[in-house]
Amino acid sequence: MRRGGLTGAQVYERELHIAVAAVREAAELCRNIQGTLEASVLEKTDRSPVTIADFGSQALVCSRLKDAFPGDAIIAEEDASVLREDKSNLLRERVVRQVQKLRTDARAPEILDWVDLGGDKTFSVRFWTLDPIDGTKGYLRGDQYAVALALIVSGKLTVSAVACPNLSLEQMKGDSGLLMAAVAGGGTRMYRLSDLKDLGMARVSQMSDPERLTICESVEESHTSHAGSVLVAQHMGISSASIRMDSQAKYAVVASGNAEIYLRLPSDRRYVENIWDHAAGSLLVEEAGGRVTDIDGNDLDFSLGFQLAENRGVVVSNGVVHETLLEAVHRAGL
Ligand code: AMP
Ligand code: MG
Repeated sequence: MRRGGLTGAQVYERELHIAVAAVREAAELCRNIQGTLEASVLEKTDRSPVTIADFGSQALVCSRLKDAFPGDAIIAEEDASVLREDKSNLLRERVVRQVQKLRTDARAPEILDWVDLGGDKTFSVRFWTLDPIDGTKGYLRGDQYAVALALIVSGKLTVSAVACPNLSLEQMKGDSGLLMAAVAGGGTRMYRLSDLKDLGMARVSQMSDPERLTICESVEESHTSHAGSVLVAQHMGISSASIRMDSQAKYAVVASGNAEIYLRLPSDRRYVENIWDHAAGSLLVEEAGGRVTDIDGNDLDFSLGFQLAENRGVVVSNGVVHETLLEAVHRAGL
């Protein structure tokens, strides 16, 4: 991407900086809460678990985006309607208390308004999409989760930042907590989450030997067909067991060359993927040299509002094996 002689990385330098700072701060809130009693679960109407941390994380990220880019729309997963109900006063107080640990001046009404800044649902020429805690189930289990933020301009993934507080890659020499960020045309970089130490550019693995390929997939059988990925592995001659982990940490694992494939094979044909579950992760992989399509080989279409209405499932790879992988998915009858 070039505009007036500038590369994408230069044009979007400020967006990248703000996105990185925003997901890092939100990850700090999530870390403060994880493992404490505050991580109690509330059932949303769709029965997915949501915690104080989901609301807190969304409030922090949206407030940063609003300060820096007041004109930008934000399509995020949560809204504050539950928090505004009289009966939610305890929950509301807990969210406010956690946000105030990082923003001492913030007041309750303002914090609820920040959450609701993420309430856009429809496409606009320039918008952000946020999953304040992707992999809430992993978060509650003490496993993998991610704070995932992406900027989409004219339907194209442009900037992304993903914090994975519990992820430890081989490159990190025992440290835990990774932040990955990408700009279209500028590549993907890895940082240590705690102090943003630069861990270098991320590159996908160049492996194509089936004996050495690794697939990752969701922990939740309801989010992806585990039986389907066994079939795909058989068709490709892959013998090692899949790595199961929650959240867009799977995209980070492929982008950094620690696995070659991430499969999300619809286990429920009626399910339509939400953009905040894939936008940020997709750019990490593409800018690291990999490919992301749906199971039919189509590009993901981020220009249709909050859902990937024209896509079915998601197939992510190091690029080298993508066509063979799509063929195997097809042969598996998915
Ligand atoms: P993961 O951690 O990869 O399993 O993905 C977590 C995300 O899966 C959540 O943020 C949900 O939005 C999404 N999700 C919920 N139900 C389904 C489903 N039936 N198929 C695929 N994804 C789903
Ligand atoms: Mg999610």
